[in-house]
Amino acid sequence: MDLGGTTIRAAVVDDSDTIVTRVQRPTPLASQVDLLAALEGAIGELLGPEIAAIGVAVPSRIDRVRGRAVSSTNVPLEHLDLRAVLTRRFDRPVEIENDATAAAIGEWQLGAGRGVRNMVMLTLGTGVGGGLILDGRPFRGATGAAAEIGHITVELDGPRCQGTCEGRGHLEGLASGTAADTLARELFGPTADAHTLVAAAEAGDTAAVAALAKIGRYLGAGIASLVNLLEPELIVVGGGFSAAGGLLLDPARLVLARDGLTPGRDTVRIVLAELGPDAGLVGAALVGREALAAAAAAADAAAVAEAAAPAG
Ligand SMILES: [Zn+2]
Repeated sequence: MDLGGTTIRAAVVDDSDTIVTRVQRPTPLASQVDLLAALEGAIGELLGPEIAAIGVAVPSRIDRVRGRAVSSTNVPLEHLDLRAVLTRRFDRPVEIENDATAAAIGEWQLGAGRGVRNMVMLTLGTGVGGGLILDGRPFRGATGAAAEIGHITVELDGPRCQGTCEGRGHLEGLASGTAADTLARELFGPTADAHTLVAAAEAGDTAAVAALAKIGRYLGAGIASLVNLLEPELIVVGGGFSAAGGLLLDPARLVLARDGLTPGRDTVRIVLAELGPDAGLVGAALVGREALAAAAAAADAAAVAEAAAPAG
């Protein structure tokens, strides 16, 4: 399951990492109760005896130890022990993960990041998500809330960020699909959105090209800082708004060439996600498989302890 700011996507993923069946529905934003009901409804629609475990990607800061969604910027989800709630409800091993970290895991295992040890994932959608693979494993920080790349500051005292974030000049407020929606409305009127903007730019509209280049330059500022901090081999850009492709990435590369340091700026590759919008969904399935392995290991340990216990 991949909970997005706009769409809930759920799928059955088989042993060969292939999506077999999928459902999707709009993300209810009115309340956490509505949101949880929609999540459970989507899972319930797919649940059969062949489902061994459930992995859930959420656009939230999570506490990996508690299996808790702590807070979210663009959806009404906070202070919820989501892993426990879903484990009770569906009687399967469940694991939760930040959505962009799930996308990073998906791309690293099965997509553009195969064989790479240091990788940054950026997902451009309702917000800007971030995921890190460092030294050959996902990096989650002290509790699981790390890699909120959308909330690094790229413009001091810049415009207010979006959703529940009170920060200013954050990458998310300047380079998300939502930021593109705003620029599109300014150029093309109240019904325009990011899709309108990308289509106009692709058709050669110079104002649209310039608007996307402006977003791309903010993206490049964020990428340059990440390159200087982490020296990744690869930066993978996914999410729905990454469909803008070179219209965003070419201006980003120009800023990286200026603001990045050698050797990282010259060796890093910036590529589009190979799994497209399914990166988070497939990554969630891989996380669900971790839950299954953990449950099996716990059962083995319990069996060993029982065998070793003195009889009687
Ligand atoms: Zn922010």
